Amino acid sequence: MELVSLDNHPALRKGDLVLIADDDALTRKLLEKSLQQDGYRVASAADGVECLALFQQERPVLALVDAMMPEMDGFDCCEALLAQPDAANFPVLIITGLEDQASIDRAFAAGATDYITKPIRWPVLRHRLRLLVAQLREQAALEANHRELQQLVMTDSLTKLANRRRFDEELDKEWRRALRDGRMISLVMIDIDSFKLYNDHYGHPQGDRCLQQVAKALGGNVHRGGDLIARYGGEEFAVVLPNTHKTGAFHVAERIREAVWDSNIPHLYGRRNPQNGELLRDRITISLGVANLLPAPDLAASALVKLADEALYQAKAQGGNKVVHLDRPATALTA
Ligand code: GH3
Ligand code: MG
Ligand code: MG
Repeated sequence: MELVSLDNHPALRKGDLVLIADDDALTRKLLEKSLQQDGYRVASAADGVECLALFQQERPVLALVDAMMPEMDGFDCCEALLAQPDAANFPVLIITGLEDQASIDRAFAAGATDYITKPIRWPVLRHRLRLLVAQLREQAALEANHRELQQLVMTDSLTKLANRRRFDEELDKEWRRALRDGRMISLVMIDIDSFKLYNDHYGHPQGDRCLQQVAKALGGNVHRGGDLIARYGGEEFAVVLPNTHKTGAFHVAERIREAVWDSNIPHLYGRRNPQNGELLRDRITISLGVANLLPAPDLAASALVKLADEALYQAKAQGGNKVVHLDRPATALTA
């Protein structure tokens, strides 16, 4: 078998592992030789069961599977491969007889990406593989790119927290989930106290650094999976706490308030006592409004935001550096 080397082809990454399964030892040998000559690594199995075991151990980029094999045939093997965790799009090429239309149909029904025919025409096989591998790589790069963009679109660039868009989406999702499961959902709205004065005296760039420090304090105090911290806007943050009752949510809010206090970010131009002009606090503080609701079909997630905002307003009215909690029966909100 004389093959032109594809070693320098840009689409081929040396060392990609191809899994082959064929009960015929000679075909296996020839496949191995041809693939290795083109720079692939090869793992070969003599039947479907062995093929599955190798797949789990070796993480190949694609599989070439003979249709007719003892124990488990190529079609069942293909289905079993695609049923493995994270393998729904794993490319399987089934090797069928040349004129065997029924096998070709079964191959696609089993989820195969493509088929090749026996007797194997080696030059055709290697070009098909090369194109398929190139296509796979391009697809993987596109998917990675898409994930990265998605991440960027949903992230606040200053604090690296979830942004408002992500907050709106997640809150809505959690609200609907809580409605389905009949569970409580809590929301904490947070606003930095006297932040305009901070910006006025320390400058906008320092204001930005302060926002980052506050974001870090929030991040260090919200731990449970499913919880979401977001930058809601300007100097406001929000924490969504699914499946959390009043006491739990209040506890989280209080912990966050203390964490920001303990961060000890100096602010010597904040609120003063109106009587004697004395500085009330020497550092950055936050006010927090906590609300929790049991979602009802005629109530939108915005009701929870509204309630938490109201609580936040009361916390401000009480002088800031404070947590205020509000809950109300759903009927009072819809009325
Ligand atoms: P209060 O105690 O009642 O919350 O008063 P406040 O001064 O914090 O609130 P106000 O809403 O009057 O001011 C918010 C300030 O937040 C105004 C704006 O300059 C500042 N701000 C909003 N977004 C940013 C940002 O991205 N970076 C910086 N540095 N400042 C911001
Ligand atoms: Mg504000
Ligand atoms: Mg503020």
